[in-house]
Amino acid sequence: MPDGEYGTLVPFKEEPCQQANGCVEPAIYRCHKCGLLYCLDHASEIDPQRFCIKCLIIDDCKVEETPLVDAEGERHRGRVLRPVGNAFTAENRLIQEMSEDELKVYITQYKIIVRNHEQMVTFARINLAQAEHALLEKRIKTIEGAGGEVIFTSRPKAVKPTPKKKPDAVQALADKLKASGITPEMLQAIIDAKKKKAG
Ligand SMILES: [Zn+2]
Ligand SMILES: [Zn+2]
Repeated sequence: MPDGEYGTLVPFKEEPCQQANGCVEPAIYRCHKCGLLYCLDHASEIDPQRFCIKCLIIDDCKVEETPLVDAEGERHRGRVLRPVGNAFTAENRLIQEMSEDELKVYITQYKIIVRNHEQMVTFARINLAQAEHALLEKRIKTIEGAGGEVIFTSRPKAVKPTPKKKPDAVQALADKLKASGITPEMLQAIIDAKKKKAG
């Protein structure tokens, strides 16, 4: 592991950033990959406490997301996350080499990072939703101001066609007979007479 207290501020306050030519900002940390000092402006956005802006970029942290499908091909709730970026391999190698004390510091640090990022995401989502809502309200006002009317259309519910009752052939015949005045007794007499004739 390069010089510098692991996961803590490196006491180089008086030393300048070594990242870009001419950067005179005071260094805050030493990069754990290249070993150079870096300032706040040249810190990695993903993990500003351990990497400089060049050594940990978002492209190295790609995660592949696929649906969760079991051996029978059935889909389940959830997804499979596969870290494909280069950074994970290097990081995992580093983690495997850490002592228990180093792991404890690392875990604490990453818990803070996760919490901070979650707060950032929540903050961003709320602001995004508020802005989208404000934009929508402005548009509605503009349309209404011009004498128009905004109608929110919701998708009509798919109406299940009620299955039509299959016409009962026997019932239909009985109805016909009833309408023509023929009673079941008369019908029986006709059948009997036909049988006699045939027999
Ligand atoms: Zn670096
Ligand atoms: Zn700098």
